[in-house]
Amino acid sequence: MRVGIGVDVHAFATQAGGRELWLAGLCWPGEPALVGHSDADVAAHACCDALFSAAGLADLGAQFGTSEPEWAGASGVTLLAEAARRVRAAGFEIGNVAVQVIGNRPRIGPRREEAVAALSAAAGAPVSVAATTTDGLGLTGRGEGVAAIATALVFPV
Ligand code: MG
Repeated sequence: MRVGIGVDVHAFATQAGGRELWLAGLCWPGEPALVGHSDADVAAHACCDALFSAAGLADLGAQFGTSEPEWAGASGVTLLAEAARRVRAAGFEIGNVAVQVIGNRPRIGPRREEAVAALSAAAGAPVSVAATTTDGLGLTGRGEGVAAIATALVFPV
């Protein structure tokens, strides 16, 4: 078996631009949006990196970089589904993925099961979703953005 790790951070938009917050495969109406070239879904992106890390497939930037512009605007769950496909194509099955969202908002707890369902469906494997805050410290504590850290376990088939 092989484990992998992934981290992602995106900043909250500094001005309202009509974007919606996408996090952990879900849309969060009324919450401030995160910004990025993609949908800025830090949880989905951290899961992708954890899977690539576990399978020895480098990282999100290497896999969906500028040489593959068709992925530039893809949603987090679309990227996660493709990451899982590539991991399987490389000869692995996915045991599970665990992701922890770090930030002040949104509150993950009330929608945890929805998030688990969305990310698990994308990965085709169990994805657990946890959340924490940082006691007011750092970029997440100051409300400047949201971070996520993920681990994945894969095994050769
Ligand atoms: Mg990202």
